[in-house]
Amino acid sequence: MEKETVCVHGAGEPSFDERTGAVSVPIYQSATFRHPELGKSTGFDYSRMQNPTRLALEQTMAALENGTEALAYTSGMAAIANLMEIFVPGDHILASEDLYGGGIRLFRNISEKNGLKVDYLDTGDLVRLKKSIAKNTRAVFIETPSNPMMLITDIGAVAELCHKQGILVIVDNTFLTPYFQKPLDLGADIVVHSGTKFLCGHNDTLSGFLITNKPDIGEKLRFISKTVGSGLPPFDSWLMLRGIKTLALRMERQQENAFKLAEFLLKHPRVSKVFYAGLPGQNGYDVMKKQASGFGSMISFETDTEKTAVGALKKVKLISFAESLGGVESLITYPAIQTHADVPEDERNKRGINNKLLRLSVGIENADDLIADLNGAL
Ligand SMILES: *Cc1c(COP(=O)(O)O)cnc(C)c1O
Repeated sequence: MEKETVCVHGAGEPSFDERTGAVSVPIYQSATFRHPELGKSTGFDYSRMQNPTRLALEQTMAALENGTEALAYTSGMAAIANLMEIFVPGDHILASEDLYGGGIRLFRNISEKNGLKVDYLDTGDLVRLKKSIAKNTRAVFIETPSNPMMLITDIGAVAELCHKQGILVIVDNTFLTPYFQKPLDLGADIVVHSGTKFLCGHNDTLSGFLITNKPDIGEKLRFISKTVGSGLPPFDSWLMLRGIKTLALRMERQQENAFKLAEFLLKHPRVSKVFYAGLPGQNGYDVMKKQASGFGSMISFETDTEKTAVGALKKVKLISFAESLGGVESLITYPAIQTHADVPEDERNKRGINNKLLRLSVGIENADDLIADLNGAL
């Protein structure tokens, strides 16, 4: 089945609810499940371990990413925190320096306390990546395109380099979703998602996912999830299933709008730089064309002055000045203060995350209305 169909119909497993024929997966709001007799189970015992609504969602995500196992969590951060439990003290991880801020906070304050060592670099720089691999390096954690600078990493090339040395390749696929990019097909071992963003698509539900095509890793993650207990509750799982039904339509429309907005921004006198993965001539454009079937709808841009950037946040009317991304409503953020406040100022400036930078998540509104709003704000 093609991805658009999987989004609507799920993984093709017969409905759990064959008795009623419900077209929408029911919300199994049950903490526990009856056993037929001693030593027998319906496959569902207790909702921390298994829940039918969550399972339907997990099967859909596994099918979309071409994985053998998918796990749904209460947030993207819960997914990453669970993932870190497959490592042991002394393990070394290399991560994108442009990684989602919450990931860096988790690594610095929790993973390192637990004995993991994490180093940061531009994972798109293969020469540097190769040099940074140490004897105890167990994984490379990539985000492509990255946030907010839209840096691109060649997933296949990293996988080739890492697999020779038994190093796992982890890809945060939040920005593109399996609709535009399938990291496991490109050689990655584990895919991470903040489902809160494009997968949900409506700025109303938090969730996270881990998907793998390595059965041994899947088994470990299952064990950690049932032990730690951060599986997505049934109602939120249902909201995610509902959101994913329209993923294809939303991704296409958001991308179409993003192209229009990127072109508008390129020509605007108050805008000095535009970072959008879909613009030819952007760093990594050719890699992006090779490994993804679309460019998504995240745009970062630099204004002429800090005053313009800060003023725009106040003046936008239709576009909300709010954290998060990927939903049907367009949102604008100020990375220097919001997502990257933990990064020292000169380091931020070096990487382009300065006080003139804004990040736009383009929604499904009418593009001309969005352009008029931005024009007024700038
Ligand atoms: C939001 C986000 C996360 C964290 O997900 P939550 O659902 O907010 O916990 C991780 N990675 C990326 C790229 C994100 O945008």
